[in-house]
Amino acid sequence: MRNLIFGLGLLMSFNLSAQQEFDNLDLSYYLPQDISYNENIPKPQDVLGYIPGEWHVSHDLLVSYMRILADASPRIAIEKRGNTYEGRPLILLTITSEENHQNLEEIRKNHVALTEDGSGSLNTEDMPIVVNQGFSIHGNEPSGSNAALLAAYYLAAAEGPEIEALLNNTIILFDPAFNPDGLQRFAYWANTNRSKNINTDPQDREYDEVWPGGRTNHYWFDMNRDWLPVQLAESKVRLETFHNWYPNILTDHHEMGSNSSFFFQPGIPERTHPLTPQLNQELTKEIGTYHAAAFDKIGSFYYTEENYDDFYYGKGSTFPDINGSVGILFEQGSSRGHAQETDNGILTFPFTIRNQFTAALSTLEAAQKMRVKLLNYQRNFYNNARKEADRGAYAFGNSKDASSAYHLAEILKRHKIEIHEVQEAFRKDGKTFEPGSSYIVPKNQRQQRLIKGMFERRTEFADSLFYDISAWSFPLAFNLDFTEDAALKNAGPEIEELQKPTVESPEQSNYAYLMDWHSYEAPKALNQILEKGLRTKVSMKPFEAEGRKFDYGTIMIPVQNQELDQSELHDFMREVSEASNISIFGVTTGLTRGMSLGSNNFRALEPQSVAMIVGEGITPYDAGEIWHLFDQRYDMILTKLDLKDFSGADLSRYTDIILPNSWGSALDDKDVEKLKTWTRSGGTLIGYRNAARWFDSNEFLDLEFKENELVAKDVPFELQRDFRGAQGIGGAIFEAKTDRSHPVNFGYKDDRIPLFRNTTYFIEAKEQSYNNPIQYTKEPLLSGYISKPNLDSIAGTIPFVHRDFGRGNVILFTDNTNFRAFWYGTNKLLMNAIFFGDEM
Ligand SMILES: [Zn+2]
Repeated sequence: MRNLIFGLGLLMSFNLSAQQEFDNLDLSYYLPQDISYNENIPKPQDVLGYIPGEWHVSHDLLVSYMRILADASPRIAIEKRGNTYEGRPLILLTITSEENHQNLEEIRKNHVALTEDGSGSLNTEDMPIVVNQGFSIHGNEPSGSNAALLAAYYLAAAEGPEIEALLNNTIILFDPAFNPDGLQRFAYWANTNRSKNINTDPQDREYDEVWPGGRTNHYWFDMNRDWLPVQLAESKVRLETFHNWYPNILTDHHEMGSNSSFFFQPGIPERTHPLTPQLNQELTKEIGTYHAAAFDKIGSFYYTEENYDDFYYGKGSTFPDINGSVGILFEQGSSRGHAQETDNGILTFPFTIRNQFTAALSTLEAAQKMRVKLLNYQRNFYNNARKEADRGAYAFGNSKDASSAYHLAEILKRHKIEIHEVQEAFRKDGKTFEPGSSYIVPKNQRQQRLIKGMFERRTEFADSLFYDISAWSFPLAFNLDFTEDAALKNAGPEIEELQKPTVESPEQSNYAYLMDWHSYEAPKALNQILEKGLRTKVSMKPFEAEGRKFDYGTIMIPVQNQELDQSELHDFMREVSEASNISIFGVTTGLTRGMSLGSNNFRALEPQSVAMIVGEGITPYDAGEIWHLFDQRYDMILTKLDLKDFSGADLSRYTDIILPNSWGSALDDKDVEKLKTWTRSGGTLIGYRNAARWFDSNEFLDLEFKENELVAKDVPFELQRDFRGAQGIGGAIFEAKTDRSHPVNFGYKDDRIPLFRNTTYFIEAKEQSYNNPIQYTKEPLLSGYISKPNLDSIAGTIPFVHRDFGRGNVILFTDNTNFRAFWYGTNKLLMNAIFFGDEM
């Protein structure tokens, strides 16, 4: 009882002190007080109606304030670079002295020239440094964006020689909200649940967001993984800003667990990507001394080097490191709402904001003091890169699927990588590279290190622990033919404006239309055709028609007995061909080589109505990737069926139900029966990753798992986490052999496929070989880290299982075929399961 009373007393004093802090909150809590501020610059509270920290700023108010600041201050220019998926503006403030604003384009050109050939003649002593400051890429880590209100105010309003010098010497690319949709979502949550009397109880609803939370963007993506793949609207504008300027420092303001203090990079030294120069880490460390001094001054605790890494170039603090810049990660212990009890006493939202504000200013101070050093570092980075560049070129392409190759070329163009057409068809490493469906990338060019970072395969590592994935080789993710040994003489003209692959528009036919299944866009086209209510079939065998070869999975649309007449059908086929940029062929005879068009080996297809189970317990990333794939890539309707509504839902509306990866079993026994009944009556149930266990234990599938019983030997207590961590597969790439005649593999031209895997479910192959259409090879590791015991286990196992279940199907993928929207190469596996599940 005494403890309880003591606990209650403590709680009340927590609440009281937090309350006082909120009641007395004033700008002076945040801003340096030894200087004056321009009275004509509106303060944040003039626009928000409260002092930053009292409430969580919504994105619209944040933008309003930034626009008003830009109007009021000649130091600030504001631009709108695009929109988020929810239509919010993606703004950028360029902050510098009035004089620099007059010559901004000249300054920019000079700065970019540092990265180019002939940079030796530039005088870095006279050049401003460029700093890109970005806030709250994870929307529920809001202290960054809320601190941005204060940092922008400070930069606009502060007076005196110090700020003058700073603005004369610095171009600040100020991005107050990397993730507007997520920030808005979280602000709504934290504000909706805030009490007038601040409640610091961590169990209060305020500190526990509803699924999917504000971390992610609209499609539930972690945008701090998209700097390299650049697949999301928000990343595209970020990258444009980056490559427009090549900033010398890029900062990324995050939050971490509430019991932590404040972290700034460098991270764990041995977890730095080997392509990052050692000097980059030394500069990071030197910049860190400015943060340390600033935090010492305000009495805030911090740590560095013990956590986080600098390995995956898709992260905001690591991407700059392969671009001659220095990326800095900040992590502030999160108050998650307005104030929470923690191991360090009470942690208030204003306190977290003040730390972020302090780090933003110490970054700018470091930039001043290290200006010439950082500019020279950038120049040397690119000079050295050119010096060490190999001769020759890379080539990539897919003679059957120009579209996938085009989508990779798009990414390279976004990264200002020089690419060329293929002059004429050539063979290399057993692959054919053809004009129109292949591209050449010269090795000797400005971005050669970045290119290496995107293309290389790596299987040797200094450390066995990874904060994120250990492999992302783009030619593998896009399942393209690839060589590192192309010759420059294979290169045609450089591609200035990338054009979509050319396609053949269909001739009018009175017999049938045929569409290859190889193109990345084919599922979009098929869906459009089925939705139109047209009779459509898929070929179970290859054949030849009118001199052209058609592979497994070719789609046929007969002309007769359709809702549309001959000429309407032709118009519609043209429309489909244009909308999906895909070739469709009109044929005039059913007499073909191989099987005929009237063969029973053409199977009738039905329109698909797909639902995906979402909600508490489902991994938002995995679900969001599928939603994005359907909605953004294929224009297919996907119903997001929430678990809480599952028991009352009418499943008969759906032909397919997708169960993404989950934390645990979120469906109860009654739900299991309901799902079984639906499947038996003809539904196709598709599960991912952890669904393997769930399908097995609920008897949807009968699986045999290969288990590792690894016992620690000579592993001390302090290393137990490392020991366990090394047995995980954070994300690596493996090769499987495929049976091309199985419908799950339709549209793939080769009998090998790279798969992205981040689970450790190893399923024994089935006895009958035709039940193993996708099977890991004997030595499957293509790129990335996997422990020796796991590598031994994975060989020969199967990542895909299909079983007839009554009149329906149960399908399992242990691997993520939709990973982060850049695994174009395996997207079709899911589409095959959906459209051709009944033919398996
Ligand atoms: Zn974060």
